[in-house]
Amino acid sequence: MTEQIPSREILWNITHPANIITMYLLMTISLCIAAVGVIKRIKVWQGGNGKIFQDNPLAYIKAFLIYVLGQAKTLSAPIQGIMHSLIFIGFIVLLIATTSVFIEHDLGIEIYRGNYYLVITLLSDVLGFGLLVGLIIAAYRRYISKQKMLHNPGSDLLVIALLGLLIIQGFVLEGARIAATSDPWKLWSPVGYIMSVPLSGLSQKALSSIHFYTWWFHTITVFVSIAIFPYTKLFHIISTPLNLMANASNVKGKLPPMADISTLIEEAEEEDFSLGYGKITDYSSKNLLDLDACTECGRCQDACPAYATGKPLSPKWVILDTKSHMRAIAAKNEETSLPRFLNNIDSMLTRRLELPLSGLTEDGNGAFVSKNGGKHRADNEGVQKSLISAGSNSEALICGEVISRESFESCTTCGACVEVCPAGIDHIDHIIQNRRYSVMIGGEVNREAQSMLRALENRGNPYGPQEDRTKWCEGLDVPVIEEGGSCDVLYWVGCATAFDPEKQKIGRALVKIMRASGINFGILGTKERCTGDHARRLGEENLFQTLAKENIAVLNSIKCSSIVTNCPHCYNTLLKEYPDYGLRKNIPVIHHSALIERLLSEGKLKLSPNSDNSVTFHDPCYLGRHNGIYDAPRAVISAATISAPKEMPMSKSDAMCCGAGGGHFWMDLKIGERINTERAKQAVGTGASCIATGCPFCKHMLQDGLKLLDAEEKMEVKDIAEIVAERL
Ligand code: SF4
Ligand code: SF4
Repeated sequence: MTEQIPSREILWNITHPANIITMYLLMTISLCIAAVGVIKRIKVWQGGNGKIFQDNPLAYIKAFLIYVLGQAKTLSAPIQGIMHSLIFIGFIVLLIATTSVFIEHDLGIEIYRGNYYLVITLLSDVLGFGLLVGLIIAAYRRYISKQKMLHNPGSDLLVIALLGLLIIQGFVLEGARIAATSDPWKLWSPVGYIMSVPLSGLSQKALSSIHFYTWWFHTITVFVSIAIFPYTKLFHIISTPLNLMANASNVKGKLPPMADISTLIEEAEEEDFSLGYGKITDYSSKNLLDLDACTECGRCQDACPAYATGKPLSPKWVILDTKSHMRAIAAKNEETSLPRFLNNIDSMLTRRLELPLSGLTEDGNGAFVSKNGGKHRADNEGVQKSLISAGSNSEALICGEVISRESFESCTTCGACVEVCPAGIDHIDHIIQNRRYSVMIGGEVNREAQSMLRALENRGNPYGPQEDRTKWCEGLDVPVIEEGGSCDVLYWVGCATAFDPEKQKIGRALVKIMRASGINFGILGTKERCTGDHARRLGEENLFQTLAKENIAVLNSIKCSSIVTNCPHCYNTLLKEYPDYGLRKNIPVIHHSALIERLLSEGKLKLSPNSDNSVTFHDPCYLGRHNGIYDAPRAVISAATISAPKEMPMSKSDAMCCGAGGGHFWMDLKIGERINTERAKQAVGTGASCIATGCPFCKHMLQDGLKLLDAEEKMEVKDIAEIVAERL
């Protein structure tokens, strides 16, 4: 007797040629509709500036393995991670099974048999069921526990319903087939087998009818899903992996470089001159892809300190509102490189399906506005109203005409949104590019920030006369290195440490530490100017470039083995941004936390530690999230106090911003709660008596926060250098 090869009858009772021909006809139509949608979207991305992918194939492959296949970002949130992984893995396995059926049945290549058949059948059943569980979790989060981070657009319901239907139909089909045929391999389809049990009492005719009609229902559901794929969240199956890979070229903490502005201004044609993002046509291809890659998960909104404190900013809605505007323009149907009727289909589906499913209604003039005054968007009125109009006017200014200016102004560039986004979106790029246009072309500068910017322009620092820059170290005999001079370590002091009496303590402590370690160091004195970080993040790129050029000319003339700074903003700018403007790339830039940690571990710095377990550590955004330095300051505190710092519930990559970044140190928006008081409350909650930090701006904001909480008697704020210097 010959051994039977495991397999199954494909299509079973769907054998009449009319069924097969109709199926192929419907499949062709649905694939054509989907292809038009996909091509239109790709063309929109291509219409942006620059390339999506630079020449970095290894980085893209690595990103694909870690973030797409490995789901690393998605899994960092446990519930969402499990939910998405169940859906993702189930989808992949079902795709493999369907492709195997197609190859076997339609191409006549014998593949879906033997052990391969058994394994794929088993995995499809088990992981298909897992997919159903994932969909149930998704529905539960949206419609029963009503997570605030989700806004539950109609497209979510449609996608969950379609996918759920497909899985259930698949199990019914399998159950009917198993019940009607004596399938010897039925136990390899456990869910289908369970479905077959209640059906097994039915007649062959009844089972055949159930199978036939369910098959057609299933087939039509598949083709509807394919046709609307580019117009729903399903499209993220393409756009998100692409974006995650493209994001591999992105450097955290570094803003998109701009060409020399004075040259741009000289060469500009009056009518088309633009800096940053004014209109959607100014966007880069990568930033346009970002818009389509967003999965609307709301994790960025949940992490945003501006949103949490009631400011009119949600990073999620900055992305989604810009996307709706991009879509509304695409739906205007001005695309000419596709046949007219294909454009019409895409336009109709975008306007009738996609935009309404995103919670927008057309106002009769081609503009799309939020339904219900935007109440479904957020529980914060500013964000509810932040979408002005996602109109199809491609000349509309994103900042001010599509999205409110206050929304862009509220960002502290803390990077919490970028850190958690599972789609590889850099919200800060979008926000800063819009600020650049708004400030440099529109002349819209926050009133409180204006005086700081004027001071930077006039004297190179926001605090006082430049000749007072070295007053902090009077009597300390700190060598000032002249242009062309040399030292081993160049100490970049930073304006806050040089001028503000409270922060000068940090500079003096660091001098004491470097002296005790025998380091040959020097400072630039009055030749050091503000790095321009705050100006740049406010959108004043021109001023940033002026300051950068002056500083870089001095720095390039000095011979030193490294630059050390106690300011994470200076650190980030010197390390990541100045090289684009000419700073010698071979000078290591070190934050003082890393320097002190190294000196301690090399035994060059000896402390008399005293036991103190009442220190908590606040991670500065530009040290932690933007530069990944979490352990060095903690190691320094542990060495000085013989105790690890008490952690706040939000720490390391989850740490809450102090509210100073993005130029906010210089302005007080007076909307909602203050970010620094919220962070200070978290620090007080640890029961510690000292907040240690590694940034002069964080120190200031937290001291202010404690004052506002009336807690400055209970708690003090110190830089790690001060804590170490006290123990020398
Ligand atoms: S950078 Fe920070 S403040 Fe700005 S949108 Fe992102 S999370 Fe919000
Ligand atoms: S931008 Fe990223 S984190 Fe925010 S909703 Fe979209 S996918 Fe989620």
